[in-house]
Amino acid sequence: METEITKTIRCKLVGLTRRKLELLNREYDNFQHFLKMGEDRGVYSATKQQGKRTYRKIDPNEEYPLVIRKDLMDIRRTNNKFAKYWARIPVHGVRGGIKVALAHQPFNFEEWEICGSKLIRTKNGEFYLHVVVKKKVKIKSEYSSIIAIDMGARWAGVSVALHRSKPKFYGKRVREVRGKYFWLRRKLGMEKKLKAIKKIGHKERRIVNDELHKIAKDIVDEAERNNAIIAVGSLNGVRNNNKGRKVNRKVSTMPFYRLKEYVKYKALERGIAVIEVPEFNTSKQCSRCGSMNTKRRGVFICKDCGYQINADVNGAKNIMKRAMGYMLTVGAAVTQPDGERRFVLHTPQPLKLHGGSPDSGRRSLDEEAA
Ligand SMILES: [Zn+2]
Repeated sequence: METEITKTIRCKLVGLTRRKLELLNREYDNFQHFLKMGEDRGVYSATKQQGKRTYRKIDPNEEYPLVIRKDLMDIRRTNNKFAKYWARIPVHGVRGGIKVALAHQPFNFEEWEICGSKLIRTKNGEFYLHVVVKKKVKIKSEYSSIIAIDMGARWAGVSVALHRSKPKFYGKRVREVRGKYFWLRRKLGMEKKLKAIKKIGHKERRIVNDELHKIAKDIVDEAERNNAIIAVGSLNGVRNNNKGRKVNRKVSTMPFYRLKEYVKYKALERGIAVIEVPEFNTSKQCSRCGSMNTKRRGVFICKDCGYQINADVNGAKNIMKRAMGYMLTVGAAVTQPDGERRFVLHTPQPLKLHGGSPDSGRRSLDEEAA
């Protein structure tokens, strides 16, 4: 099966000569003036049209990025030592636009289709080109293992996998960072240092995000090495049923949501499917006997079968169970004569980002899990 992925590449414009900087600033200012006053002091005509189409409501206090039409965006690789890519920015009054160098980055534009771009001027006068790119990716349909991840409150994530016996815990550093900044914010709050609070908020977010990207990469690397499909819990459909405090707290606080997005994204890029299974009761239910007669005080204890296990690992195991159930209802789990496990995904959930997964298949899983 095939799916399309899009992403936005952020490129800083570097080495701008004074003349180029002047031209960019003029175009940018004239564009703002055009949007706000309707008067054209000289803006590239296609940019003007795109601007009108893109920005419907204009706030006089905002700055609006220049919108560059897809077919006018030209990004080329160079042999230049200074920059790997050059881009051509159309500006009013300059034939063929102006050529600008993009800061070096690992991304390969040749492998993607360029969709649209925006040129953004920052508060300190630097220019960034945001390029939206897309490409078609083939998603594997046969796997020999499953990695199930529970994105939790105490850890950014805990995973179990069919190809290993030990669980993995992710996000020790995320926890430390969040803890540290929590106390720092509180201290500054008492001293009413609001600016400082905002600043460390940005810093914290950046560090946590970096960590989450690393964790996601770890997970997807492991999936690739072991030809595993990835299963995550989904809160969609749980929220409307209003299932308790735990879920709500999870949604509102942890960066787990971002981690999930990163995992999905990186997996898709490498053609690995991510399936979402309902997360409802994964923390309450015993992953061994399915009983709900359990308690958790750090350690998970099943009052029916006596199973004792780290509570987060229990959650991950429940996601694994549901994922196997899912594979059995919509895919097929086949054990080969040589004992190698093989999962075939026939009708995968659409692999959408920022969206839910469809209801098909979920209902039967919910019943099975209940
Ligand atoms: Zn039990």
